[in-house]
Amino acid sequence: MGTWAERFNEYWEGFHVVADGTEEGFAWKKCSCGGLAGDRYRVLYQPISAEASEPWEAVGVCSDCLLYVANAETPEEEEL
Ligand SMILES: [Zn+2]
Repeated sequence: MGTWAERFNEYWEGFHVVADGTEEGFAWKKCSCGGLAGDRYRVLYQPISAEASEPWEAVGVCSDCLLYVANAETPEEEEL
């Protein structure tokens, strides 16, 4: 399992991810970090191997992921 940041970094391995922050509203789909349904905020991502001029893709992530992308702040680990 690893820590929250480890899970996040494993999911996004090979990609640049930057915060956009646009609110996308509520989504039932799980977040990339495994987070449950909730409000989503936009981030942009691009394969590390991509040329800088290539377009970035957009995806909605939870507020935990957005904060981590923007400020490298990790959420408090849930007690297991
Ligand atoms: Zn998330």
